[in-house]
Amino acid sequence: MDDCIFCSIVDGEIPSYEVYEDEATYAFLDANPLASGHTLVIPKAHHERVNDMPATVAGAVGRTIATVAPAAEAAVDATASTIAYNNGEAAGQEVPHVHAHIVPRSPDDGGQPVHALFGGPGEADDAELAAVAEDVAGQL
Ligand code: 5GP
Ligand code: ZN
Repeated sequence: MDDCIFCSIVDGEIPSYEVYEDEATYAFLDANPLASGHTLVIPKAHHERVNDMPATVAGAVGRTIATVAPAAEAAVDATASTIAYNNGEAAGQEVPHVHAHIVPRSPDDGGQPVHALFGGPGEADDAELAAVAEDVAGQL
């Protein structure tokens, strides 16, 4: 797509530090790493959000994440990684071409779990959980 930074990276018009490529996906280093080895995994085709990916593309992205995460960890001697999507503008997505962040983690890196975004675990009783589960399932 014109005017998409990540489409331009896939096309080679903007340089990037490639770590992996296959028919449907591309993985490259984030230019502003949150930790050494911070890697982005994207579909080669332009889809704005996770919600927009056809199942085959989503599957390919998932496989690439599973391939690249252990390699990114091993490359920087990390013992874990945070894997996350900012899925939509309200969630902090800045580049509107779906991308998974793989950020290598270590016990002493001072980082937090994803739960820290919301100040820790929330609370809901069984009735609320059951109602929300029914609502979500009803949308599928
Ligand atoms: P978002 O906030 O959309 O989830 O994350 C976008 C990410 O893309 C950021 O972490 C940012 O550093 C990275 N990024 C933005 N522009 C470029 C670029 O031109 N090249 C690379 N390699 N990363 C980029
Ligand atoms: Zn794009």
